[in-house]
Amino acid sequence: MLSAIATALRQRRANVIASFMGRMGDLLHLGEVTLSPFLDLTIRLWLAQIFWVSGILKLANWDNAIALATHEYPVSWLDPLTAASVGAAIEVICPAFLALGLATRLAAIPLLSLSLVIQLEYQQLNEHLYWAALFGWYVIMGAGSISMDRLLAPGLAASALPLVKPLSRLYKAITRYLGPAYRLFIRVWLAALLFAPVMAGRLVLDWVLGFASPFLALGLATRLIAMISALWLLGMGFTMNLTELQRVDHLYWFFLLGLLALHGPGPIALDHVLKQQLSRLFPRIEGWSEAMDLPHVIIVGGGFGGLKAAYGLRLAACRITVIDKRNYHLFQPLLYQVATASLSPADIATPIRAMFRDQHNVRVLLGEVTDVDTTARQVSLSDNTRLDYDYLVLATGARHSYFGRDK
Ligand SMILES: Cc1cc2nc3c(=O)[nH]c(=O)nc-3n(C[C@H](O)[C@H](O)[C@H](O)COP(=O)(O)OP(=O)(O)OC[C@H]3O[C@@H](n4cnc5c(N)ncnc54)[C@H](O)[C@@H]3O)c2cc1C
Repeated sequence: MLSAIATALRQRRANVIASFMGRMGDLLHLGEVTLSPFLDLTIRLWLAQIFWVSGILKLANWDNAIALATHEYPVSWLDPLTAASVGAAIEVICPAFLALGLATRLAAIPLLSLSLVIQLEYQQLNEHLYWAALFGWYVIMGAGSISMDRLLAPGLAASALPLVKPLSRLYKAITRYLGPAYRLFIRVWLAALLFAPVMAGRLVLDWVLGFASPFLALGLATRLIAMISALWLLGMGFTMNLTELQRVDHLYWFFLLGLLALHGPGPIALDHVLKQQLSRLFPRIEGWSEAMDLPHVIIVGGGFGGLKAAYGLRLAACRITVIDKRNYHLFQPLLYQVATASLSPADIATPIRAMFRDQHNVRVLLGEVTDVDTTARQVSLSDNTRLDYDYLVLATGARHSYFGRDK
């Protein structure tokens, strides 16, 4: 008896933790998808205007630009005319692409190189390193969702334009293999930057940032720590008299912390290890959490009807299971175009799971429903699985009928 109670309590505790973790995961994901596009756009526009204004000023006063390239900041391995021309071209052309988020990674490469040249050949300033770090981010991670790249990506992926597919594969590989290391680098570098004023005993208030830095370096509670630090910096910016250099530092720290808060520390972090351990202990954390004691809605069919029903319930407090015997939604109105070979079948078939990637109360099951037991409130699948439901939506479509006449 006692052991049964203990097991029940343990189960209950596991459910509560799983539920909490699930909600936290949803919250973080929501923050990422809603806020990160705006932060990304702000950073891109900020960087773009700095370089673009500089480029336009050079073009407006070309003699002055040549004189500066000759005497003020000569590049040791380029003649002044070439240095000024290349520099001005990069400063005028690339920021436009960066601001639009068009070919962002390619536009960020020359800007990253220019930032490093300025740092190494002209004047060593923290700001140049911040530029380089942010451009590096764009080279490796690409632009966020408010960008032409993201807008055009689906069409480009399906197009027959040369180089598009290998390039997109290359981008994915860069993000996948270099992304984790780059995030680690940004974390450790930022941690060192935030700790430096504490070491120098510069500002008593910087102790908060100093406290945050080991957490950032280790990747422990990264999003929370980065978010608190970013808000702290914002508060300091408004309430304290900062020097111009401090303001610059704080602005870029804010950008970098914001990126970490919204995108997370990446897989080379203690957070990742902890999450894996917790997922092992509380398996439901990884996905759709049954721990939440919510009504279960089963929707059979991932056609227009089923999708609309699931989407309509996106804000409802319920768990939804969409079951379809195909793993894709078929856009029937374009079947004619497939039949006449003006579209490929893949153009009108979208994976149902991908459609609900951002809707966290939905899970998608591949299976054919063979029976419904309305008394027991269960549906049966062809593999003999039985699923309980509280509410059932049957959206299995219709078959043609010729009403007994010959076809
Ligand atoms: C060629 C063509 C052109 C059309 N053009 C237009 C148009 O221009 N405009 C317009 O408004 N409408 C058009 N329609 C009609 C429109 O496509 C349908 O009305 C609509 O797709 C019906 O949606 P639904 O969700 O009810 O069913 P469906 O889209 O048929 O979806 C049913 C889903 O249920 C799944 N399913 C079925 N049985 C089971 C089961 N036992 N277990 C698990 N899953 C199951 C199926 O795999 C399917 O994914 C067209 C239809 C066709 C065929």
